[in-house]
Amino acid sequence: MTSADQLPRRGERLSHAQQLLLPREQVDFALAPGPDLLSYDQYVISISGGKDSQASLDVLAHLFYEARILHRVTTVHADMGRADWPGTAALAREHAEHYGLRHEIVARSGCDLLDRVAERGKWPDRGRRWCTSDFKRGPIRRVITILVAESRAAGVTDRPIRVLNIMGHRAQESRERRQQAPFIHEPGTTCLCSACSAKRAVGQPPKTSFSNSRRIVDSWLPIHSWNLETVWSRIAVAGTRPHPAYSAGFPRASCVFCIFSSRSGLVRAAQLQPELAAQYATVEQKIGHRFRLDVSMAEVVAEATANTTTPAVADWHP
Ligand code: SF4
Repeated sequence: MTSADQLPRRGERLSHAQQLLLPREQVDFALAPGPDLLSYDQYVISISGGKDSQASLDVLAHLFYEARILHRVTTVHADMGRADWPGTAALAREHAEHYGLRHEIVARSGCDLLDRVAERGKWPDRGRRWCTSDFKRGPIRRVITILVAESRAAGVTDRPIRVLNIMGHRAQESRERRQQAPFIHEPGTTCLCSACSAKRAVGQPPKTSFSNSRRIVDSWLPIHSWNLETVWSRIAVAGTRPHPAYSAGFPRASCVFCIFSSRSGLVRAAQLQPELAAQYATVEQKIGHRFRLDVSMAEVVAEATANTTTPAVADWHP
């Protein structure tokens, strides 16, 4: 493992067919403005193993190294179990270890995503995206609670712990992400920051609970404005391994069968992961609820089986 004080040489181990490389002088790796970077006790970076978190992790690791606060950084990966491409959790760990960072793997307690679908009798969809809230956001928040407890145990007891929650979302990915602000304070009913206190004073307390009396959480999307070329150009100098889903033709490294995937993406995934596709189709049949209105897993499996050629995978927009 690389020491946090001794970053690896850059530009190592990268040869990727899908790199969209630009001459370095044309690439602007500027990060979204917002946070007072030195003011936090804990920095939590969500990493998926995918390209966006891979690129942002590289720029952040070097930034935090320069600021001498790398020891306050924790990376977190939400493990989706069999719903993920094989090796995804190990790859996310590899990305964190490249910079010698503390890394936590979290998962929803209880059954995995597919078993949960069987239990609920419904697939998640755009309006009920519980796959993300229950299996990613919720477990990652538990890590934040643990880190806050650690900071308090280390002696910070006279004020709330300040946490910077960092994600690799980009505006280009979807309409929803385009509408996200790159930097926000996460309000809380009992949050002691001046903005939340002012709202309470006029009888309009925030209804959320991400921040509270023990912690003040801000969320930052440092590469929100980056385009695809910038992402791959950063990966080219990062020295970490890209997710194999990209070289298999996928534009995104999401769950193998993401509810937002293009039809061609689902078919290609079923060709590569036929056993998992069959498990999804079995659950679909058992609960009597189509994977998606426009496409069922039964259709995906039938198409994947009938086609001997590999379809070009269209992008999708979560
Ligand atoms: S990748 Fe797709 S299916 Fe998996 S959690 Fe995210 S939205 Fe849900």
